[in-house]
Amino acid sequence: MTNAPPPPSTAAQSARTILTRLHEVMASRTNAQGKLNQVVGIIGECLHSEVCSIYLLRGGTLELYATRGLNQDAVHVTRLALGEGLVGTIAQQIETLNLDEAAAHPDFSYRPETGEELFHSFAGVPIIRREQAVGVLCVQQSDPRRYEEIEIETLQTVAMVLSELIANADLVDTTARIDAAAADQSAQRLTGQKLVDGMGAGIAVFHQPRITIEHTVADDIEAERHRVYAAFDKMREQIDRMASQAEFGIGGEHEEVLETYKMFAYDEGWSRRINEAIDSGLTAEAAIERVQQRTRMRMRQIDDPLLRDRMHDLEDLSNRLIRIVSGQMGTAAQMGLRHDSILIARNLGPAELLEYDRRRLKGVVLEEGSLTAHVIIVARAMGVPVLGRARAVRTAVREGDLLLLDAGAGTLHVRPTQAVQDAFDAKLELSQKRRASLAALRDLPAVTRDGVPIELMINAGLREDIAALDLTGAGGIGLFRTEFQFLVSATLPQRERQQRLYRDVLDAAGDRPVVFRTVDIGGDKSLPYMNVDENALEENPAMGWRALRLALDREGLLKVQARALMEAAAGRTLNVMFPMVSEPWEYEAARDLFVRQRAWLKQHDKKLPAAIRYGAMLEVPGLIETLDLMLPHLDFLSIGTNDLTQFLFAADRAHPRLAERYDWLSPTVMRYIARVVKIVADSKVQLGVCGEMGGRPLEAMALLGVGIERLSITPAGVGRVKAMIRSLDLGALRADIPAILAHPSSTPRAQYLDWAKAHGVDLGE
Ligand code: PEP
Ligand code: MG
Repeated sequence: MTNAPPPPSTAAQSARTILTRLHEVMASRTNAQGKLNQVVGIIGECLHSEVCSIYLLRGGTLELYATRGLNQDAVHVTRLALGEGLVGTIAQQIETLNLDEAAAHPDFSYRPETGEELFHSFAGVPIIRREQAVGVLCVQQSDPRRYEEIEIETLQTVAMVLSELIANADLVDTTARIDAAAADQSAQRLTGQKLVDGMGAGIAVFHQPRITIEHTVADDIEAERHRVYAAFDKMREQIDRMASQAEFGIGGEHEEVLETYKMFAYDEGWSRRINEAIDSGLTAEAAIERVQQRTRMRMRQIDDPLLRDRMHDLEDLSNRLIRIVSGQMGTAAQMGLRHDSILIARNLGPAELLEYDRRRLKGVVLEEGSLTAHVIIVARAMGVPVLGRARAVRTAVREGDLLLLDAGAGTLHVRPTQAVQDAFDAKLELSQKRRASLAALRDLPAVTRDGVPIELMINAGLREDIAALDLTGAGGIGLFRTEFQFLVSATLPQRERQQRLYRDVLDAAGDRPVVFRTVDIGGDKSLPYMNVDENALEENPAMGWRALRLALDREGLLKVQARALMEAAAGRTLNVMFPMVSEPWEYEAARDLFVRQRAWLKQHDKKLPAAIRYGAMLEVPGLIETLDLMLPHLDFLSIGTNDLTQFLFAADRAHPRLAERYDWLSPTVMRYIARVVKIVADSKVQLGVCGEMGGRPLEAMALLGVGIERLSITPAGVGRVKAMIRSLDLGALRADIPAILAHPSSTPRAQYLDWAKAHGVDLGE
């Protein structure tokens, strides 16, 4: 908001005309019903709409409170349940409907007493208070046409003002709905999705005490505009300050997360939309909220999880802006946590989470949340368990309730009974003991009971993961997913930034090897800042233009990464690995590019790595047919079981219905890997596995059984897998494996499990 405001748009002007008249109605001495009658008249007249009606929520149903155009006899008679008919759908889904033929909509429900059969077109918007629908405002026309975007915008703005009128007139009691649920004192168990594993107990703290906007219609538009200017300035100051104090140090992913915040904070489009809402006659708070509501509605229609995460960042900032402009209380973080606490929020921004005292923050429960969100990356780095998608949490929980969070089990116990508390404490103690006993293994070698050393390394991708090297005592990083830096960035990371991260990782690893995988982006890991055209939605992103395919077409990207890696590894050994190699020529082309970059650096007297080792990932099953051609040119090969299995079974790895259908221990996977081991055995190529499969003790045991001796796994799995290795008689297993592979039972998992039990293998169960 730097320059003079643009002239008000037509939408703003028409909304302003209505709002000015509504303001007069609200200030008048008429009773509430009289006011609503006038309101529907004004809106119908200004929008040239034959019908305008207001439904309000009373006693759990939506009641027709006022109408212009429908039968007056239907007022206070027509009632719809939440979810019933178009009006009920709008309120339940908190969504806008704009239809040229209302009766054709599947949710349409005919009410003869209203006489609405004369009207074809229909548009309705929710009237929202405290993020809940308390009513519906709708218009209808006899000619079948869709309402213009401008008209819908106007309706939405008017609905906001109506929510104030309704609350002031005590027409519906919004707290009634919320408190009805909260008044329930009984113990409850809520479920959700594990976003960050772990357990924690504490009292419920709401991240944001509810902000209620008291005044929606502005008395002085210029004054409101200045309030927003000032709030924007203050917010930008806060974000800049936060960026300079980011807890994880400059140069980390958090710097990049904050870059996204900055991008929004200085975004002209956002401030322009708020300005437009002020033009329409709203107060500063109402204008910000109005734009936020619109963003929320759009967000529901977005399928792209990355884009949705960015929208949450915007929502985070929007809340901050409302708090600043209204001078209303800060977040719970600003007031400080006084006890061990479990934080409750609809969603959180990463910067908001960073403001909490991590010693007292025992867990986070979100109504929304997704695995790939920035805040989850931050929470994992902070070691705070997070449960997401806990839909009813903000209504079922009251500030100060005792909560027991078991994110791994996907549950939250609210006001638990003594019995639940005891069971929780016992489980917590057990898991702490188990963790302590696994931690004791940290400095012991990963050697089987019969003396075979196994290389046990971790998968990483973020600066915060580096700490896991020492915590787990792993032998190195067997897979560093370099695309993570790209994914959490608001803009393409430049060479210096890449180099800084790689160098820091190598410094932290010391003598331990680090395998850098070149970027595996594209497909579902699309980057919003990449060329839109080429980033177009793909039918089958996992099999699309991703990873090495994209990198070879976009040589610039790979060249920059090659130089960043080589300069970062100056004087040391650099291990580079290429993802999604489908044919040997792709590997050759990628390696040639590195060789050329090395020559260029040498020519320019830059420091070079002492040695470069090249590797490929085996995750496209067809590569096995040409593996013999590649082996002479490879230093190492790593089996990526995540992609490998999805392609072996033709089953999307992210599809929830297929998640349990195929087993990693099935003969399909195990025989395939055994075949790879055999092909590679005669070469000097180092073979390993780096997919999630290796992080589970039983699966890891099977992999060792077929000849794998190098695993790179999730840091959380290191203790358990090491315990398994140290209890395993590998010779005995290898003697039995050929029979297991030759005569698999219909439940192969049981076969391996039986073997493990019979041979005293520690699977940590
Ligand atoms: C794999 O596919 O197994 C793998 C390790 O790579 P990613 O999970 O990053 O695709
Ligand atoms: Mg993969």
